[in-house]
Amino acid sequence: MPVNEFAARRDCFSNGFGRLRIDAALISGGANLRYLSGFTGSNGMLLVLPGEAILFTDPRYQIQAAQETTCRVHVATGPLLAEVAAAIRRLGLRGIGYDPAHTTCEAFEALHSRLPARCPLQSIAGRVEQLRRVKSEEEIALMRSAAATNSRAFEQATAKVRPGMREMDLAAELEYRMRRLGAEKAAFETIVAGGARSALPHANPTAARLEAGDLVVVDMGAQQAGYASDMTRMLFLGSPGAKVKRLYRAVREAQSAALAAVRAGVTTAHVDGVARRVLRGFGLEKAFVHSTGHGLGLEIHEVPRVGKRDRTRLEAGMAITIEPGAYLEGFGGVRIEDTVVVTARGCEILTPTGKDLRIV
Ligand code: ZN
Ligand code: ZN
Repeated sequence: MPVNEFAARRDCFSNGFGRLRIDAALISGGANLRYLSGFTGSNGMLLVLPGEAILFTDPRYQIQAAQETTCRVHVATGPLLAEVAAAIRRLGLRGIGYDPAHTTCEAFEALHSRLPARCPLQSIAGRVEQLRRVKSEEEIALMRSAAATNSRAFEQATAKVRPGMREMDLAAELEYRMRRLGAEKAAFETIVAGGARSALPHANPTAARLEAGDLVVVDMGAQQAGYASDMTRMLFLGSPGAKVKRLYRAVREAQSAALAAVRAGVTTAHVDGVARRVLRGFGLEKAFVHSTGHGLGLEIHEVPRVGKRDRTRLEAGMAITIEPGAYLEGFGGVRIEDTVVVTARGCEILTPTGKDLRIV
């Protein structure tokens, strides 16, 4: 990531401070901290002021912080919050934005009790997440790499699938392959579920063995250079019968139609509705029990959601998944998922893996 990209993001963020009646905002941990500073350590807080930012961390991260960020680094010798509060007082700041989703009640109380009455804490809930929705070219390039790693690992690992293999062994193989190919880790707990268990949209891999005649759902993602990919593909052990083929065709058509509907300017509810309509045509609308997709980037689930009630207008540069599914209790389920980036006229599909039902 170019160093100045972080500064540009902070400028974008602090441009809104006047309207919020805050002098500065405190970003505590996680993806928002990384997004605005580049810092990846586990203990850090960023005080963002217009034209300036101070990263508070502890001595374990002194060297790393200097390498990862151009912000001023303050190495705290005690609890970070006490030193953050001291800095806020010293700078004479009035009105501090804080993020309720990433601030514990304990931290809020600790900060609140140390600040003067003229310096209230004000929620900036969702502000950084809104900025994160539209990805830069650099971010998209990183997501493309994460998707490529994900797909390569899928090819390598699924080549080993045989009847009798346990779900957990395939999941472990997928994660191992992703790491060998450059991922830091799996972007989320890999899902492998065979037979009737494929009807559980978020099944954890078990010791159950994959058997001939099983539909197998594989939902996996790589986290690489901080960015996540997300893909779902289906395997079939043996030769599928008419019911499996029809279920697969329905979901595939729903996914293709939803992908074709993605473009800057349309609402996420519209894209979701397109997938739902196709499944309705197959009598499967009740079998589609989740939303069509979700934003992703530094985190596996980000805004916007792509669901029935989500009215976000897609913008070029947003990264989302398109993942309709249909789940039949006692029989099995099918989901097909790609990671895509919205463009002015459509979308770029980052996931290179083919979408035919994979027969093993
Ligand atoms: Zn997924
Ligand atoms: Zn997903």
